[in-house]
Amino acid sequence: MCITVRRSTDPVVTLIPWDPATLTITIPAGLSSAVSLIAVRAVLAELAITQPPGGAVCCCGAPVTLPYIPAQRTVEGARIAS
Ligand SMILES: [Zn+2]
Repeated sequence: MCITVRRSTDPVVTLIPWDPATLTITIPAGLSSAVSLIAVRAVLAELAITQPPGGAVCCCGAPVTLPYIPAQRTVEGARIAS
């Protein structure tokens, strides 16, 4: 079973960055892709999984894919939609 990454909109202070039961890394929803990668690499390094110079890899060596960043809904867009 490979490590997966999910984004959460929960308050950052309540996030559990690493859940060993589900092998899930949770990052705040608002992080940019570059910052997300840094955060994921930091968690993986903390798990003693050696990371390559670029990207992030699972304990099995497979690349860890970061979840898609949903487009931010603007205030203007929300107003029109309502
Ligand atoms: Zn794996």
